[in-house]
Amino acid sequence: MAAIHTLGELRRSGYRSRPVKQEIRDNLVCKLRSGDALFPGIIGYDETVIPQLVNAVLSRHNFILLGLRGQAKSRILRGLVNLLDERIPVVPGCEIHDDPLAPLCAACRARVAVEGDELPIAWLPREDRFVEKLATPDVTIADIVGDIDPIKAAQAGLNLSDELTMHYGLLPRANRGIFAVNELPDLAGKIQVGLFNILQEGDVQIKGYPIRLKLDVLLVFTANPEDYTARGKIITPLKDRIGSEIRTHYPATRHNAMAITKQEAWTDRTGVLEVEIPAFVREVVEEVAFQARADRKIDKRSGVSQRLPITTLELVVSNAERRALANGEPVAVPRVTDIYAALPSITGKFELEYEGELRGAEQVARDLIRSAVGTVFTGVFDGVDTRTVVEWFDLGGSLPLGDTTSAGDLIARAKHVQGLRELADRAGLEPAAPAPLVASAIDFVLEGLYAQKKISRSEERGYSAADSTPRRAARREEPTMDEEIRIPGAKKKYYN
Ligand SMILES: [Zn+2]
Repeated sequence: MAAIHTLGELRRSGYRSRPVKQEIRDNLVCKLRSGDALFPGIIGYDETVIPQLVNAVLSRHNFILLGLRGQAKSRILRGLVNLLDERIPVVPGCEIHDDPLAPLCAACRARVAVEGDELPIAWLPREDRFVEKLATPDVTIADIVGDIDPIKAAQAGLNLSDELTMHYGLLPRANRGIFAVNELPDLAGKIQVGLFNILQEGDVQIKGYPIRLKLDVLLVFTANPEDYTARGKIITPLKDRIGSEIRTHYPATRHNAMAITKQEAWTDRTGVLEVEIPAFVREVVEEVAFQARADRKIDKRSGVSQRLPITTLELVVSNAERRALANGEPVAVPRVTDIYAALPSITGKFELEYEGELRGAEQVARDLIRSAVGTVFTGVFDGVDTRTVVEWFDLGGSLPLGDTTSAGDLIARAKHVQGLRELADRAGLEPAAPAPLVASAIDFVLEGLYAQKKISRSEERGYSAADSTPRRAARREEPTMDEEIRIPGAKKKYYN
């Protein structure tokens, strides 16, 4: 097809243009038949969002994705580009990508009339057929649909309602392609009316002048579900023209969430250091997001984006990189404690409810991390006896560690704690794992016991025995604990 250069050649080739929704439908049918991946890189939507999306496309619907932030809505819409033909013929230079076989605008119709079969043809790649706009209250009808230029009209001796005086907005420029409006409810009512008129009647009024524009576009939208369903946010006739409402969601399982984060986070620091991220670190990072989404102190309506674990993991890796560089270690292995270094990423990713405001964003984030560590630790160490280690601390031991402590140092200091190394081996280490991995596993055990309130941690002392209040709680959970050794040692050291 790309060998075709003139209208005459195009006509003789038997090429038939299709409306864009038909074209996308046809290409989707081919992919469904051949079993090709429909939306590569979209994880965890196979049973929920994608089937609905497929049905909407098969039905040639305009549709809207309803979901909270960070649910891959924009990414899905951009993925629709892969369902377009690789390229389509257009009249060269036409701003609305006119079909040479059926041009809309007066200029192109005039060219076809004059040049006939000699009219040159250009081929438009599919990437250039996707137009996206984030709706904000200040978006005008001129931005979206266009404006008329009285000076141009006067100079050319044209009537104002003549389309040649028109300065096209984004929607006409998306002609024969996909027009995506993100956050539709933020679009002013009169622009929604304009969109509806274009869809329904193929015309629009600009400054009171009717302009005829029989555009061919697939209209797709995104919105926060609450904004969308709020009365008066979307004009009824436009809502009525949106064929399908599809709900997106956050990853349903930690497994899916980890796969998304692994795909999106920049953790490959090749050229500087090798990076090895233990599974339990990935799990805790993900669990922070799950805990945040369930936390009463965090605003549910704005949601907690998948970008939280993604940017957190990047900072966690950077903190490990910083430590490895300072200590001259060849491999950067993140530790659970590195997640605290990612607070700058976490605190900006959620909106707080009143109760959360009282506690403060940083403290809320610290609570989330600790609770996430506890959940993952409990899963990994289910049924494992941790008493030996806890008793060592209860007898007055303390273990000062920092996030720049080298792997060698950390392991050497941990040797004094009876049973700690053996526990660490149960965190899923390979036999003969290198020192930074062992150090990370030890750190995980210590943070896990801290999260379970079996030991405490402070800036000055590092890890030490839990104070008495949480220990009474711990005793209730573990009635078999040996009580004779514990209490005196722990009490004493606090007043030393
Ligand atoms: Zn044209």
